[in-house]
Amino acid sequence: MSTRGVLTVISGFSGAGKGTVMKALMNKYPDYKLSISATTRSPRNGEQDGKDYFFLTKDKFESMIEDDGFIEWAKYVDNYYGTPREFVESNLSQGKDIILEIEMQGALIIKEKFPDALLLFITPPDFDELVKRLVGRGTEDNATINKRIARCNEEADVVAKYDYLVINDTVDACVERINEIISNEHFKPKYNEELIKQFSLKSSNFSI
Ligand code: 5GP
Repeated sequence: MSTRGVLTVISGFSGAGKGTVMKALMNKYPDYKLSISATTRSPRNGEQDGKDYFFLTKDKFESMIEDDGFIEWAKYVDNYYGTPREFVESNLSQGKDIILEIEMQGALIIKEKFPDALLLFITPPDFDELVKRLVGRGTEDNATINKRIARCNEEADVVAKYDYLVINDTVDACVERINEIISNEHFKPKYNEELIKQFSLKSSNFSI
């Protein structure tokens, strides 16, 4: 029914399983448009340039910042991450549902620029599970794991600014919750202004 796309921002503690959830979400619901971010961090095993991220040098990233090429960008644990502007603007203008998987500073900038943005925060069921997942994936050294876990402390204070907390107990259940929340967002009056306008316009001079 609604013609306007929903801009959804998904964040979560490092190790919450966001990457896996996003892949499963896109497999099951391919109509969502997932923005591919740019980053200066090195690719992990199996990550591909242009698919998982656009892997850029620091110089290239900084020149894109200067050219206003990002809709938001942030520094996260020693690296830059940013959302390329063009993808978001072109898909929004076509009424598509867009998903950005970004950390908190970026999420709050998006909320300022796009007040209708829907902010979801993915969390594992508890802290022990988060540590287990972060250590278990074996992609970071201990110092980086410690830095990522230290960020949870600051992040926990900001979670209240999000619209929904989505527990990632199992990937399938988490995917269903996300799809349900975004689908429900389309039923809000602000996404259906044309329909409502029709009732007010047509009823004002109506007689049977
Ligand atoms: P990772 O290195 O684990 O892939 O990502 C680290 C953090 O950066 C994650 O919390 C991820 O959501 C966030 N991130 C990924 N892309 C972007 C982006 O374009 N902008 C911002 N602000 N954060 C991002």
